Amino acid sequence: MNFLIDQRGRVESTRVASAKSMVSLEYLFAELERVGARRVLVQAPQGLKGIALQLSEELIHRGFDVMLSGGPCWGGCDLALNEAREVSADAILHLGHTEFVKQSAIPTIYLECKYQHKIDVEQLMEKSTHLLRPAKRIGLGMTLQWLNLLEHIKQALENHGFSVLYGQHKNGRLYPSQVIGCDYTTVKSIEGQVEKFLIIGSFFHGLGLSMITDKCVVVADPETMHVEDVAQIKRRTLMQRYAQICAFRDSRRVGVILCTKPGQKRESLAMSIVSMLRKAGKDAYVLVLNEVDERFLQDEVFDAYVNTACPRISIDDHAKFKKPILSPSELMVALNLRSWEELISTDDYFRWCMRNG
Ligand code: SF4
Repeated sequence: MNFLIDQRGRVESTRVASAKSMVSLEYLFAELERVGARRVLVQAPQGLKGIALQLSEELIHRGFDVMLSGGPCWGGCDLALNEAREVSADAILHLGHTEFVKQSAIPTIYLECKYQHKIDVEQLMEKSTHLLRPAKRIGLGMTLQWLNLLEHIKQALENHGFSVLYGQHKNGRLYPSQVIGCDYTTVKSIEGQVEKFLIIGSFFHGLGLSMITDKCVVVADPETMHVEDVAQIKRRTLMQRYAQICAFRDSRRVGVILCTKPGQKRESLAMSIVSMLRKAGKDAYVLVLNEVDERFLQDEVFDAYVNTACPRISIDDHAKFKKPILSPSELMVALNLRSWEELISTDDYFRWCMRNG
């Protein structure tokens, strides 16, 4: 039996990143047998928890000892390695993301969960064309779950008279055209050859790209069929970010957040930032957290924070935090080591979050 994920989120089919091919349940069982796993920790982001449960049932039926990871799972960076160690799991089954963390401590099988159900691509592209015209050359970026639509979408746009390009990731870590919230390398690689970008996925991914390009970014979400030009929110977001950078300059005591999630843990970066801040005359301390959550940052001890974990936290959740919270790249601007204009024209904005990037 193959897994497929249909419109109701039922598991019928999926792909394993490492194998880069369709796999069957039998293959999955064989992989678990191959690594000698009896106890399996199943981890999934919100939205795929139901699928994780169905998979778990199948595994239990086959005699595996299964546990479900109950915590949040924000990306491939958030691999439940510590949990797996704590419960002595022999393997992790991670749903919904490609491999992000290079590790060999606990065998990990990635089930990418690309959507297979029918999407009215022609209607979605018809809506998109109104925002893409009068441009002729379009750069295409997609999130993992929609990658099966890549060629169909490209063809549909070409039928409307556009020429369509998509880029490759420089080290092959992502699929051609694939974007994640902190990595836009594929689309940035074709920036000079296109007039506008079209992101197939969520607003979150479109906003990220728009922050580091002068080109217009349109987002088309196959799930909601909503199409949007993110220009206005981009302007507002960049203004908010710059305001936080300015507010940070007045801070005296700074907490440098070191996250313990495997793909977000940047200890040497946090230590360098502490010494940089001390040289700049501020009191700085490393603050170790697993979840960078505003509820844990409500004390009156720190005037501001630098977040070495996921860079999207301070961008997307900034309104929840009472104090300025900068990414490492924004700190460079606050300390006058880099210009704001330069930062927002490169993908360095997100780069420092990448452990292996
Ligand atoms: S660091 Fe943030 S944006 Fe990047 S993959 Fe992890 S959760 Fe997503």
